[in-house]
Amino acid sequence: MPQNLLDLDLEGLTAWFTELGEKPFRAKQVFHWVHQSGVADFAQMTDIAKSLREKLQQLAVVAPPAINYAHTSADGTRKWLFDVGVANGIETVFIPEDDRGTLCVSSQVGCALECTFCSTGRQGFNRNLTVAEIIAQLWVAHHSLKTEPNRTALNHGAGEISDRPVTNVVMMGMGEPLANFENVVTALGIMLDDHAYGLSRRRVTVSTSGLVPAMDRLAERCPVALAVSLHAPNDALRDQIVPINKKYPLAELMAACRRYLVHAPRDFITFEYVMLAGVNDQAEHARQLIELTRDVPCKFNLIPFNPFPDSGYEKPRVDTMRVFREILQDAGYVVTTRKTRGDDIDAACGQLAGKVADKSGRVMKRMHKEAA
Ligand code: SAH
Ligand code: SF4
Repeated sequence: MPQNLLDLDLEGLTAWFTELGEKPFRAKQVFHWVHQSGVADFAQMTDIAKSLREKLQQLAVVAPPAINYAHTSADGTRKWLFDVGVANGIETVFIPEDDRGTLCVSSQVGCALECTFCSTGRQGFNRNLTVAEIIAQLWVAHHSLKTEPNRTALNHGAGEISDRPVTNVVMMGMGEPLANFENVVTALGIMLDDHAYGLSRRRVTVSTSGLVPAMDRLAERCPVALAVSLHAPNDALRDQIVPINKKYPLAELMAACRRYLVHAPRDFITFEYVMLAGVNDQAEHARQLIELTRDVPCKFNLIPFNPFPDSGYEKPRVDTMRVFREILQDAGYVVTTRKTRGDDIDAACGQLAGKVADKSGRVMKRMHKEAA
């Protein structure tokens, strides 16, 4: 099997070159070609000696997963569906805004954590994505957007767009990033590396449902901005809708958030809160949230539930969301409400479905239970 160079960070590539008897600076040159120039064909790497290019042609590839589908919605939101093996697909979404371009990246095929309102969670779990499959989402988006002739919809940030269409990455696609820790950390390192994409730590966000020990490890290994999927203000309710809460309950999660902030590039945690009509959207819940997060510098991102077939949930009414938001704002919190983008291509970030051939046996079990 040839080595897929998208699987290696600069350190790994340098080690691999050393094994081949090549100088470390050659690894840096090739790394630039791959990530900064988007070149997959070694023949085009013109400042590399011909003999080395031929060697690379035999031993290596730059191989992103095949793209099954790419589409742009009316508001400029872009979506790619990547083929990651038999009956499996993962999605990546690019959301252009006035002052930034955000790429929403997937980390796993499916997810094992079974949050009840999440279509990924309902589909079961197949496998972790490789480093190549994670970084390829940025590689494809960055280089295809960069070379696009018509970027009117992406014309954000005077000048910035020309060489950097993707300014922000959020790990909010399919999967729980901290459950695929090593691969995600290596991929994050490539995103931040000035020899590759050079994204700022403040503009790369990991979103987690609250895997406490992995949050501590992330703080140590690669402190980027952190979003925590809270979704409930008390353990009884969170146990039901975010089952990992039974393992890492709210008091532990809040303590982990405080510890994370010691290392974080930003001085707040973003709490994501999916609003589920009649479940977690009452004024009383907002008041409990204020109590819960008293000692954690944070912002709230309220996300109207994105419905999917047979979910059993509904999105709240606009005025219910307004009341909830105002209670938090009156208590001094910064609250954003996520706009739904790319509706016509079903690409609202964090609500990506993809296709999962479940391997955990969980989907079958659930179907039996529902049939009974
Ligand atoms: N596993 C990680 C990251 C992926 S999900 C996490 O849970 O944080 C990204 C965000 O989308 C999370 O906050 C998640 O709870 C939210 N989300 C999942 N399903 C949703 C739905 N149907 N409607 C709205 N938001 C949803
Ligand atoms: Fe997994 Fe996140 Fe969906 Fe929960 S919300 S099932 S952690 S992807």
